[in-house]
Amino acid sequence: MSRVAERDRRHVWHPYTQHALAAAPVPIARAEGAYLYRDDGAPIFDAISSWWVTLHGHAHPAIAAAIARQAATLEQVIFAGFTHEPGAELAAALVGVLPHGLERVFFSDDGSTAVEVALKLALQYWHNRGERRPLIAALEHAYHGDTFGAMAASDRGVFTEPFAGQLFQVERLPDPGFDREQMLRALDRLLDERGRDLAAVIVEPLLLGAGGMRVYATEILSAIRERTQAAGVLLIVDEVLTGFGRTGPVFACEHARVEPDIVCLSKGLTGGFLPLGATAVREEIFAAFFGADRRRTFFHGHSYTANPIACAAALASLRLLDEASTRARHEIQCAHEQELAKLGSHRAVRNSRVLGTMAAFDIEGDGAGYLNPVGIELASFALERGVLLRPLGNVVYLLPPYCSTRDDLARAYDVVRQFLERTPA
Ligand SMILES: *Cc1c(COP(=O)(O)O)cnc(C)c1O
Repeated sequence: MSRVAERDRRHVWHPYTQHALAAAPVPIARAEGAYLYRDDGAPIFDAISSWWVTLHGHAHPAIAAAIARQAATLEQVIFAGFTHEPGAELAAALVGVLPHGLERVFFSDDGSTAVEVALKLALQYWHNRGERRPLIAALEHAYHGDTFGAMAASDRGVFTEPFAGQLFQVERLPDPGFDREQMLRALDRLLDERGRDLAAVIVEPLLLGAGGMRVYATEILSAIRERTQAAGVLLIVDEVLTGFGRTGPVFACEHARVEPDIVCLSKGLTGGFLPLGATAVREEIFAAFFGADRRRTFFHGHSYTANPIACAAALASLRLLDEASTRARHEIQCAHEQELAKLGSHRAVRNSRVLGTMAAFDIEGDGAGYLNPVGIELASFALERGVLLRPLGNVVYLLPPYCSTRDDLARAYDVVRQFLERTPA
């Protein structure tokens, strides 16, 4: 056993890992482009962008250089009472690419904290305006993160079960991917009966990610916007997964021309190099916190709020989100569509779907759900063949970095095909 493996086995606790059942973690020595390299040099195609973060490719030299420069200039400074160029420039750059009307950016550490900030801002917005609005509404199959507020907004299931008693209650709206009429009726009823108690509706736009890569129609997102706007209820859009081009346009909201009140960002924000979260809001939300009364303050902050190195990485990453990147993302979408069309004829493949650079399908049999073991079998089968996949139970998805080539993708799909055609042990 290597030194890394041995020390890891003795002292490290890994995320979302049942240590009694999981294979030993794979030591990775370096990475470049769409590939990770084991310590013996063997390559692994990163078909899931290392948990949905890597955007342009691993170790991209432009981002690496920006990080090195910033680290040698200003690595960190308290962000209350102080500011800096990468933080101010990044806020302005995000406002420049975000849907119209989002003009104020609050930085935090990751996707979960970006969601916590959004929920707290929405609740305190009404509090500061002297209205009692304690309710949050969220979607069935939603995933918004693993901290308490984010867990509360997420759908209840195996991830949240031990904490059920500590999670605040949320008005749950049906998954719009199943029955859009039912979902919109439920929303109408909620706004009608409890609209005055509702602080905000939070949704992942078009793609319910960790809940099973479930896609829903752009018209539903537009309808949610229209209805919340008419009812005077805030709309929080969680673009933590979908942001920065994953679904095609820079933000998934653009598919539906939706202008939310609050947007949550993280994951691809720094190109996948460093943790950073951002919550962008409309100016009138900021205005509700502005005034001589200090109790109107948003009393929230993290030690590393707007860390300059992370902000510099994000600025460098945004610069790479150019026309060439748009073409590359379109190429990936075309490759997904062709490969899924071929794969779709297999009897075990159900519900193929593509949304920009994301492709997914369900494997039939043994029931749905995160604990379906077929995903773990496929993951280890693929890893042995040099492809990183991490299905969500029986839901197989590919979400590759934008530098992935057609050949990279063809090989990954080939591994999936071999798995489906294997004779079960
Ligand atoms: C991953 C994810 C989060 C949580 O982000 P972390 O950085 O893992 O805390 C929140 N919302 C969505 C939609 C996500 O996919």
